[in-house]
Amino acid sequence: MMTEKNTIPYKIYLEEHEIPTQWYNMRADMKNKPAPILNPGTLQPMTAEELGHVFCDELVKQELDDTTPYFDIPQEIQDFYKMYRPSPLVRAYCLEKALDTPAKIYYKFEGNNTSGSHKLNSAIAQAYYAKKQGLKGVTTETGAGQWGTALSMACAYLGLDCQVYMVKCSYEQKPFRREVMRTYGASVTPSPSNTTNVGRKILAEFPGTTGSLGCAISEAVEAATTQEGYRYVLGSVLSQVLLHQSIIGLETKAALDKYGIQPDMIIGCAGGGSNLGGLIAPFMGEKLRGEKDYRIIAVEPASCPSFTRGKYAYDFCDTGMVCPLAKMYTLGSGFIPSPNHAGGLRFHGMSTVLSQLYHDKLMEATSVEQTAVFEAATKFARTEGILPAPESSHAIKVAMDEALKCKETGEEKTILFGLTGTGYFDLVAYEKFNNGEMDDYIPTDADLEKGFAGLPKVE
Ligand SMILES: *Cc1c(COP(=O)(O)O)cnc(C)c1O
Repeated sequence: MMTEKNTIPYKIYLEEHEIPTQWYNMRADMKNKPAPILNPGTLQPMTAEELGHVFCDELVKQELDDTTPYFDIPQEIQDFYKMYRPSPLVRAYCLEKALDTPAKIYYKFEGNNTSGSHKLNSAIAQAYYAKKQGLKGVTTETGAGQWGTALSMACAYLGLDCQVYMVKCSYEQKPFRREVMRTYGASVTPSPSNTTNVGRKILAEFPGTTGSLGCAISEAVEAATTQEGYRYVLGSVLSQVLLHQSIIGLETKAALDKYGIQPDMIIGCAGGGSNLGGLIAPFMGEKLRGEKDYRIIAVEPASCPSFTRGKYAYDFCDTGMVCPLAKMYTLGSGFIPSPNHAGGLRFHGMSTVLSQLYHDKLMEATSVEQTAVFEAATKFARTEGILPAPESSHAIKVAMDEALKCKETGEEKTILFGLTGTGYFDLVAYEKFNNGEMDDYIPTDADLEKGFAGLPKVE
């Protein structure tokens, strides 16, 4: 074991031929499988045929497969990955020094591509399967814009049409994100819009609404199912997305193994759960098979606390209630979080896979407040140089807290966290923080009860 300082480089890179060629499906090693997604009409598990109206066939197979541990990554996707992967695994020597901690901190940096986040890992996979099926295009929603950007890049590469429903407040607040998507050839519609039935219905009921992710999902699904040759794709939450994102964890593990390093804890932010599910995948696999043990921590915003204050129940994934029901930790599909600045963490629910793992106490969750997150982001930017996305900064905050605990106890723990993206499009949020104008709204129990009241009665 090389434990001496400086024997570990600042960045551990993999050679091109060391990039994993298979994705890993954690569900195969789970004793308690995630609960099946249900048809909202019949309350029966969704069949492949039903899902095939909305999603690409190959992705439906991946979505429903709880038993196959490894899926080959098609060569075309491997080739695309090589344009921006392997992503660096960084030893945060500068941050360790600034914190004066004996802890060893590593982060996997996924912001090294134009979309600025990990979302490209699944975008290229989903676009590839759509193309292979001979489709004309795909529809999707985007909140903060990272997913829409990633998907536009992937669709441009493969020559597919890309229609993005962008939550109206982001569409107006983030014109630059919108223009990146349009530059890659996507059409971007502010949601709710009057181009769909569900959009018109929501507009009639809530005139002046600035939209939500759940509402944009409903519109994108309707757009996919009413146009010939189109399917809907989703950037998080689904089990297929966690499968594609396992590339993050597999690369991390391969890099750490080169130096005989084993993390004591793995920390990631959780919006819909895809980056965290991807980062922990091979480590959780070892834990599930009883080979090794790790502390795994999901970090969510105190303003949208699905794990820490949500209910484990069947719920809708969208506001229009057209999507299947998923059993997950949820705040209720009617819950609209206060407008915090981590757009990617504002979904009311959570991946069914992570929900089951959390329910089985195989992982922990914690929530953090916005101002503290930006304090950590600023400290990180000033020491490690990277301007982090607000979403990623939730993980930074908890990694720093854990490193400071090590300072008190003198323990040399190894901390690994996921740095999911960069914050160049979040400078309005940084401006608020720098001006001392950021608030820390936390929903009251009464606010949450309103969301829970709308949960469907299933069991
Ligand atoms: C979308 C996003 C997230 C949250 O989504 P998950 O599916 O929970 O990973 C986190 N960080 C960034 C930068 C994102 O774009």
